[in-house]
Amino acid sequence: MARIIIHIDMNSYFASVEQQANPFLRGKPIGITGKDQKRSVVATASIEAKRLGVKTAMSTWEAKRICPTIILWPGDPEKYADITHRFNAIYRDFTDSVEEFSVDESFLDVTQEAGDYFGATCMAQTIRERLREECGERITASIGIAPNRLMAKLASESVKPNGLTVVKPNEVLDLLDKSKLEDLCGIGPRVNERLDDLGIKTFKQLREYPVEGLIEEFNSLGLWLHNAAWGQNYPPVISPLPKGGLRGVADSTNDPKSYGHSYTLPQDTEDQTLLKRYLLLLADKVAWRMRRDGVAARCVSAYVRFGDFSGAGQQTTFSSPTADGKLLYETTWIIVNTFASRPDHLPIRLIGITASLICPDPRAIPLFKKEQKLCSVLSSLDTLQRRYGAGIWKRASTLPITLKTRSSGFKFDHEI
Ligand SMILES: [Mg+2]
Repeated sequence: MARIIIHIDMNSYFASVEQQANPFLRGKPIGITGKDQKRSVVATASIEAKRLGVKTAMSTWEAKRICPTIILWPGDPEKYADITHRFNAIYRDFTDSVEEFSVDESFLDVTQEAGDYFGATCMAQTIRERLREECGERITASIGIAPNRLMAKLASESVKPNGLTVVKPNEVLDLLDKSKLEDLCGIGPRVNERLDDLGIKTFKQLREYPVEGLIEEFNSLGLWLHNAAWGQNYPPVISPLPKGGLRGVADSTNDPKSYGHSYTLPQDTEDQTLLKRYLLLLADKVAWRMRRDGVAARCVSAYVRFGDFSGAGQQTTFSSPTADGKLLYETTWIIVNTFASRPDHLPIRLIGITASLICPDPRAIPLFKKEQKLCSVLSSLDTLQRRYGAGIWKRASTLPITLKTRSSGFKFDHEI
């Protein structure tokens, strides 16, 4: 059966997220960089910066030279991961088959759900509405709808930024013939060069080139290239993911069994105030991730590592599940404090907290007035976090400290 695939690609993603979060950056050329700006490259340029010639992966030095007014802004991977999580959860409201292709791109197989291309177009427009409402109007996407992933990606590429296009099966050759070889995901500069050596400069020429010759030159890639030039792509789709029963759970095949954060302190310490502040920050982070996924925990554990790398930990079970950061903090502080106040202990090097025995969040139906009040505060804060990222609010007592993000790509070394 013919498939219908939607490819959604966020435009100037990191830059748009920052512009959404910070009105000061809107309408200005900005470049998102790593922590060390002098040695970094521009990971994403805002649409305004791209117009002035700044390109992705350009050194910050060169970006400054081309565009002296550019604002170089350090990236916040956690904030981007949050929004990525949010928009993929929106997609999963429309279909079970969502493939997160990269931090800002996803494929949706909507063959069953949409029925036909008209249905898929309506669906894409509704998705776009929800992105605007739930992620913010600055975070825009290009959308391509086509019979397979390769063509859907090429289609969305052709309408950057912020466009929507439908390429039906009988239109794929037209799309290919309007595109350059290197526009196709899978044809990099080297392959393009080798095709050029064979005298192939267009998809039409690639289509007409004997497939045996391509296989001889490129092995299995040759067949792939031949099929691609005809608008065919294998494997057809995406591993289907069952839609979770829980609201907002993005990937139920990958449901976390626990949520945790640990943090190596800037210096080994015995300072109780400092330990309390870090613990509260960690507890809030864990609680937010649970609320974001619509779950709560029946159990929480805390652990500490001392200066000599020895460690200790303990857990507590709640009478009813919770996703409230303050409660997680109060419970885990009792544990940490027992270790921290032992007379013979060394200064603490690392603290960690893990929430486990995860279940659906019962706050959906708050029973008591006090709970209702707490829920409304938390849900207002969560709305802000969904829109502007996890760092948008802070408790006054944790203001003096920050958790340094130690990231490799989008995996955080302190996220468990
Ligand atoms: Mg993108």
